[in-house]
Amino acid sequence: MDKRVPEIFGSMVFNDDVMRERLPKEVYKSLTKTIATGKTIDASVADVVANAMKDWAIEKGATHYTHWFQPLTGVTAEKHDSFISPVGSCKVVMEFSGKELIKGESDASSFPSGGLRATFEARGYTAWDPASYAFVKDGSLYIPTAFCSYTGEALDTKTPLLRSMDAISAQGLRLLRLLGDTTSKRLTTTVGAEQEYFIVDKKMYDLRKDLQFTGRTLFGAPAPKGQELEDHYFGPLKSRISAFMADLDEALWTLGINSKTKHNEAAPAQHELAPIYATTNMAVDQNLLIMEYMKKIAEKHGLVCLLHEKPYEGVNGSGKHNNWSISTDGGKNLLDAGKTPRENVKFLLMLAAIIKAVDDYQDLLRISVASAGNDHRLGANEAPPAIVSIFLGEELDQIIRSIIDGKTYEGVRAGIMDLGIPTIPTFRKDTTDRNRTSPFAFTGNKFEFRMLGSSQNIAMPNIVLNTAVAESFRQFADVLEKAENLDAAVSRLLKETFRDHQRIIFDGNGYSEEWEKEAEARGLLNLRTSVDAYHCFHAPKNVKLFTEHGVMSEIEIHSREEILFENYAKIVNIEALTMIEMVSRDIIPAVNAYLGEVANVAAAKQSVLPTLKCTVERNLLEKLSELNEIAYAELENLKRVEAKVSAIGDAVKRAETYRDLVLPIMAGLRKAVDEMETMMSSKYWPLPTYGDLMFKV
Ligand code: ADP
Ligand code: MG
Repeated sequence: MDKRVPEIFGSMVFNDDVMRERLPKEVYKSLTKTIATGKTIDASVADVVANAMKDWAIEKGATHYTHWFQPLTGVTAEKHDSFISPVGSCKVVMEFSGKELIKGESDASSFPSGGLRATFEARGYTAWDPASYAFVKDGSLYIPTAFCSYTGEALDTKTPLLRSMDAISAQGLRLLRLLGDTTSKRLTTTVGAEQEYFIVDKKMYDLRKDLQFTGRTLFGAPAPKGQELEDHYFGPLKSRISAFMADLDEALWTLGINSKTKHNEAAPAQHELAPIYATTNMAVDQNLLIMEYMKKIAEKHGLVCLLHEKPYEGVNGSGKHNNWSISTDGGKNLLDAGKTPRENVKFLLMLAAIIKAVDDYQDLLRISVASAGNDHRLGANEAPPAIVSIFLGEELDQIIRSIIDGKTYEGVRAGIMDLGIPTIPTFRKDTTDRNRTSPFAFTGNKFEFRMLGSSQNIAMPNIVLNTAVAESFRQFADVLEKAENLDAAVSRLLKETFRDHQRIIFDGNGYSEEWEKEAEARGLLNLRTSVDAYHCFHAPKNVKLFTEHGVMSEIEIHSREEILFENYAKIVNIEALTMIEMVSRDIIPAVNAYLGEVANVAAAKQSVLPTLKCTVERNLLEKLSELNEIAYAELENLKRVEAKVSAIGDAVKRAETYRDLVLPIMAGLRKAVDEMETMMSSKYWPLPTYGDLMFKV
């Protein structure tokens, strides 16, 4: 395989090499300029590109093309058209025009739009994103696109993402110009998303309606063994898993995805894959493909990949670490502290901008990771808390402290600048301590946002990060452009920013109760549930942020907020209905059958020996029947409440009521059922147990 990897890598991608090879020089130049600057594509160029793409795709076995987009469902969407075009009455040729490449028509009416698109305006269109490479898979040429309504509103996650990338570039360049950078033409944010997941045997999965319908187990008593021995984390890979991972890597490599790291995670049957980072829009596309391929390839191995944030209670859930940084088009990472005083100033300004952004927009960052699934994880002592804070590490903390206090930084190795800003030694990655409990940690030359859920599209967190930091840049540039003495102004700006936003910096244990109290005293937000968080989306400061930077209009914000509420309610609704079905049709009947057997045994025993006490049977019958009664009462209650809540018209009220009334009943029902599981004969229990699910892979 070793020799083959470089050959297969990116072989199904219409990437820069292929473009250079296949496009006329002028066209290639024009296209790369479009990609580098984020400008719109020249229409005359599109025809040539389309034709070259088609020829290349056909060589790779494609017969169709599809505009590939990211509607607000959280997953990707595609509609395939073949390249065929009739010639006369019985022949076809393969054709693909620039027009077809650039723009596609799509019926938007069945995608969630949060009221954005009235039903009479059902049409939407997809627009090619030349900055993400097209690729061939499953016999189709995939063209990454943005998805908009005919009135121009974004109906997807891609469009605001691209807009946010433009915003941070524009504002960041203003700042770089002031600091003497005359050559950079664009700033890009880069992202590496570490993806966690669970694997379960397909045969077990097929016996669990909860996994099939909701992605998580709604019942299940703990197995005798969990993750307490810590023997799974980084442990040797089982051969089935290893074979799956090898296939997955190969599939991803052909799509040009730099799948780099794979290992076992903390919980049994939990694993992680990390790619090498890419430009944000590509990283988003790639993460979606990674998730899709994890599922697809798992099936080939008789396995199922679970991407839910919390498939099993009692062991860790799955998240996604969004490693994020900013670099120039010249390839300079702006979160590298650098070696010279000038570079240090730039780095400190970046740091200040990010700290300010995270503090000012804690609510948006929280919203960007909020989902019914992730609610089971955040703040549950295994994942970052629901409170947003930043971890910087001791060295940076001290530097910032010294800037706030106007004192010399003790650890200075290379002297101090005249303006009183300490020179910082380049950070070696391993010197930044790893605080795993921090939701937003500096890790050497990037920040790692760790609150993301494993199943989510990573676009929204990056939209928020890019735009919030763009706003810090804007405010900084506004001040500094007016300054008479730039050095003094930078110095003052750093001092004030660090001073005003130091409350967001926290290096302690994010899982502790003390932190919750302290965070409250510091005035930090603690938006415990998704529903609490969603409300903040349309706060005036947030609307101002997105509209001023041209990332989302007020209507686009409202539509997204509504979809979030709706989606939350839908998810809990499906979970409740699944529970109702499983308890009514599988669990109660199984318990009754077992009770019948136990009663028969007791009766048979006593008919032979009337003096026998039959304590085992009596106790079992009594306890199990009691629990069965409780389960039945909870079931009936759930049915009644569920029906009422699902009929609530207002999306916000509905989501709130699902959270406040339905989730607690579900928890009560689960408790009774899980207890019955521990008392039942395994022969009668209708579901694979936690032990089966997690250890029989
Ligand atoms: P960890 O120990 O947290 O796994 P790694 O060094 O393996 O740290 O990096 C984790 C992720 O961060 C990888 O996906 C990597 O490509 C990504 N990463 C590294 N540098 C950058 C950067 N400049 N911008 C964005 N992501 C980055
Ligand atoms: Mg990491």
